[in-house]
Amino acid sequence: MQDPRSSSTLEEHIMSTTLFEKIIAREIPADIVFEDDSVLAFRDINPQAPTHVLIIPKKVIPRVGEAQEEDQLLLGYLLLKAGEVARKLNLENGFRLVINNGRDGGETVPHLHCHLLGGRSLEWPPG
Ligand code: 5GP
Repeated sequence: MQDPRSSSTLEEHIMSTTLFEKIIAREIPADIVFEDDSVLAFRDINPQAPTHVLIIPKKVIPRVGEAQEEDQLLLGYLLLKAGEVARKLNLENGFRLVINNGRDGGETVPHLHCHLLGGRSLEWPPG
């Protein structure tokens, strides 16, 4: 068995850690708007609307299509907190929540995240 402190194990850990896990661990900076024990919300680095926040569970669930029965409460909690963040950011005129799943869904980071978009009128259908 490999010594967990050996450098190759450390490298493997770094390589296998998702971008959003690094944000949770403060290894990558982010503009955090809400945090508690279960979820983190931070501004998207490439905003698609005047307000664009990502709400993520701290537990690594790669995508909603791979969530398990045991994640039921956490998934509901994520939506509840998304609504709270929207209120906190004064999106009383409306907002949109988006979860991209897989290649055709436009997912680029394999750590479940809910986009909160607002601050402008959003068109439908999305592209
Ligand atoms: P997806 O395309 O997977 O639904 O969304 C991933 C989002 O993560 C994108 O909107 C992208 O702009 C955002 N993103 C990627 N890298 C970073 C980063 O390092 N920091 C922040 N705050 N957002 C990021």
